[in-house]
Amino acid sequence: MDLGLTGKTAVVTGGSSGIGLATVSLLLEEGCRVALCARNADRLDSVRDRLAERFGAQAILARACSVLDAEEMAAFAGEVEDTFGGADLLINNAGQGRVSTFADTSDEAWRTELDLKFFSQIYPTRAFQPMLQSSDCGAIVGVNSLLAYQPEIHMVCTSAARAGVQNLLKSLAVELAPDIRVNSLLLGVVISGQWERRFEARPDQNQSRQDWFREQALSKNIPLGRFGEPEEAARAIVFLGSPAASYITGARLELSGGVSRFV
Ligand code: NDP
Repeated sequence: MDLGLTGKTAVVTGGSSGIGLATVSLLLEEGCRVALCARNADRLDSVRDRLAERFGAQAILARACSVLDAEEMAAFAGEVEDTFGGADLLINNAGQGRVSTFADTSDEAWRTELDLKFFSQIYPTRAFQPMLQSSDCGAIVGVNSLLAYQPEIHMVCTSAARAGVQNLLKSLAVELAPDIRVNSLLLGVVISGQWERRFEARPDQNQSRQDWFREQALSKNIPLGRFGEPEEAARAIVFLGSPAASYITGARLELSGGVSRFV
């Protein structure tokens, strides 16, 4: 199947690590030009240099900025327009989860988490909306979590914020139609930096990586018996954002190894 991405321009927030980085790589493999952003300039530069060796520097634009800063997002969008002449696809991926129960979440933590989850969608969407509207295949993919539908008490504010974001994305799918499709990905657990750090800090340092991750997956009752890989999430994101998904909007795709319990 041809995804129809050759020659298109994609923007990936949080593209320097994990799922975002896997998505950037796959989009480049599919023949896209890709603009990516993240806050840590050193990590972003080294990612850009590695990608440029494989795909050529002219296909990549990397900008150190925060999705939580409206002015920085506007400047990033301006740079993408100057460099690539527009944008066809926006992947709102930047972010992280917060582990805390209701009892140990302060007011400030609630505000920080709600701010991160909502504005990491709002500011990039607002900044890139005019370019996406001018595209003949404008699309947004919001990277979200299964917590939106299946809250966990040890991630109380992330769960609540994820539910709100899911609601927002549904509204956007209607308001931005027919010019821009908006879909979401509901992630279960995908191996990324935070899980690698937990593995490094495992109590039994003799336990192998494979055994430790298998044990974690079993404890979470994941039917497929393992965590997801960033490349698996990237394939779902790239499909949803591609012209091959041209009649899909307002949809959610679960990528969790079957861990949801709702029908
Ligand atoms: P990583 O920590 O590997 O990557 C997160 C990326 O986001 C990094 O590039 C980081 O770079 C960037 N980032 C974070 N905050 C900002 C910001 N304010 N502005 C710009 N960039 C930012 O995480 P994952 O790949 O695991 O996660 C990707 C997305 O998926 C996140 O939104 C996460 O919450 C979500 N998710 C992940 C799950 C999982 O199991 N992995 C489960 C559910 C949801 P830098 O720090 O330099 O800014």
